[in-house]
Amino acid sequence: MTVIAAEQVTPRAKRLLAPNPGPMTLEGTNSWVLSAEAGEHCVVVDPGPADEPHLGRLAEQGDIRLILLTHHHLDHAEGASRLRSMTGAPIAAADPSLCVDSEPLRPGTTDAAGIELMVLQTPGHSSDSVCLLLSADHALLTGDTILGRGTTVVAHPDGRLNDYLDSLRRLRALVAEAVDVVLPGHGPVVQNPSLTLDFYLQHRRERLEQVRLAVAELGEPVTPMDVVRRVYADVDESLWPAAELSVRAQLEHLTELGA
Ligand SMILES: [Zn+2]
Repeated sequence: MTVIAAEQVTPRAKRLLAPNPGPMTLEGTNSWVLSAEAGEHCVVVDPGPADEPHLGRLAEQGDIRLILLTHHHLDHAEGASRLRSMTGAPIAAADPSLCVDSEPLRPGTTDAAGIELMVLQTPGHSSDSVCLLLSADHALLTGDTILGRGTTVVAHPDGRLNDYLDSLRRLRALVAEAVDVVLPGHGPVVQNPSLTLDFYLQHRRERLEQVRLAVAELGEPVTPMDVVRRVYADVDESLWPAAELSVRAQLEHLTELGA
């Protein structure tokens, strides 16, 4: 497999693409290396899968002082303990069970090994998802909450649609004020984050309406896969298992709304 060179995306953020392409991971996981002002030490966000060459390349990027995880899914977090053993860096995440030698991430501004980051709790894709604002670069690291292409999965039952919509609305407000670029967990960098957030919110509204109509038309009893076949007919079948999770999340949301 050809190794794509590390790419400097903003003054302080570099991307290394992990070699795990797939229907859910797009070209692969984006591992982000953030450098402190002086440049001598850095923070890795989402080391990605336990791929030895990829982790080795990450470890070569500088003096890694901290490993951060946007959420617990393996395509982001699996390589963390191996990268820790290569570098000695602590691991921090919102979920305390993922942390090693570090306190869990809490909302608000934090000094991440000399790099100022604002932690935002953005549950929805998963219950433990966070986004990280690299204020100095007006850049937002979004994990799987916002992707570089297409839309993400609400991974029911851990991910919940109500939470996700709330997270998207909060991100929409933040992006309007403070963000020029989104650094996603998969896919290309997003240069027009406000438009993307609008698209995500609109897409969610449309899908929800489609699911509501499908349930009404199909009549009870209806399985989530019945709804997927109707509503996600435009989506490649390899994505249907993921779509089924999103449908389950949408059905739960509709029940909560009493619709
Ligand atoms: Zn992912």
